[in-house]
Amino acid sequence: MTRLSGITPSGRVHVGNYLGALRRWAREGAAEDLYFVSDMHAMTTAYNPQRLRALSKEMLAVLIGSGINPRSVFVQSDIATQLSTLTWVLECTCTFGEVSRMTQFKEKSTGAKTIRLGLLTYPVLMASDILLPGADEVPVGDDQAQHVELARALARRFNTTYGEAFVVPKAVMPKVGARIRDLASPDRKMAKSTRDEAGVVFVLDEPDMIRRKFRRAVTDTADRVEYRPEHQPGVANLLEILGACTGQSPKKAAEGIGSYRVLKETVADAVIEELRDVRKRTQDLLADPAGLDRIRATGAERAAQRGAHRLASVLRLAGIG
Ligand code: ATP
Ligand code: MG
Repeated sequence: MTRLSGITPSGRVHVGNYLGALRRWAREGAAEDLYFVSDMHAMTTAYNPQRLRALSKEMLAVLIGSGINPRSVFVQSDIATQLSTLTWVLECTCTFGEVSRMTQFKEKSTGAKTIRLGLLTYPVLMASDILLPGADEVPVGDDQAQHVELARALARRFNTTYGEAFVVPKAVMPKVGARIRDLASPDRKMAKSTRDEAGVVFVLDEPDMIRRKFRRAVTDTADRVEYRPEHQPGVANLLEILGACTGQSPKKAAEGIGSYRVLKETVADAVIEELRDVRKRTQDLLADPAGLDRIRATGAERAAQRGAHRLASVLRLAGIG
């Protein structure tokens, strides 16, 4: 049983990514699972190449620093040749109607002056990510469920039209953990791609910076430390973060905290503590670029080996190669 998940280097890894995804992958992941840095997915809208390269490298280090088995980790573009080849085959299996119906494409393209073709076809590349290694399960949030459905449809269609080549993957909805919100704007979730970084706590932020961000977190005027997400979203968010770090429910985490000032200090302490080892391990990896490159190369080799056999049979069945 292989589970596969990717994370796009659209920005730096934040505490929401860590608590909601990376920490889980590290704790629950099995040796056969695959976790990859989806750098090719970061190209569907305008981006800076130098920044993308740097972010991808940093993200790879953060994944490993978070405790994910290095043998399960790779960078997507390191197997770009295989993926692009498979993507072409799958693009010729997919219809224009199918990709243009994707909700995420409609959302991201509406009102845009220019639309990169890759924004339209990106779900097909994602189907390749999933189908090439023969992933059985893909843990996704609501926003990606439709893309996994497409991968399923393409796998079935290819299998019935040309012959059995693909495992038909399943989308699994992970137990919903808290959606961590932006500290400065608790009306939106914390996100990598947010321009204003004041409310985004990055995994590699210095402890002082983390504390400063929590001290400035937006709360409300009630000065009541209670878990009431509807009425006190900022405070509820702090309690969710605290609870996620201490292994308590947000409600329980609120007990005994008398003021927002104390709450902010307590959450800051908990987050700094939670991230201490992750940050240390990641910095050690980044301080040894040659070592990180070796880990990266090994991951790429494993991923390529894993895909080679399936790709060869796909090409044979499709009448090419
Ligand atoms: P982007 O702005 O590029 O969408 P993002 O921060 O939303 O970045 P994703 O790449 O969309 O991150 O998601 C990576 C993983 O992190 C997913 O598993 C997603 O569910 C999880 N995740 C993202 N944001 C949060 C958050 N605020 N709280 C909890 N989990 C999150
Ligand atoms: Mg997102």
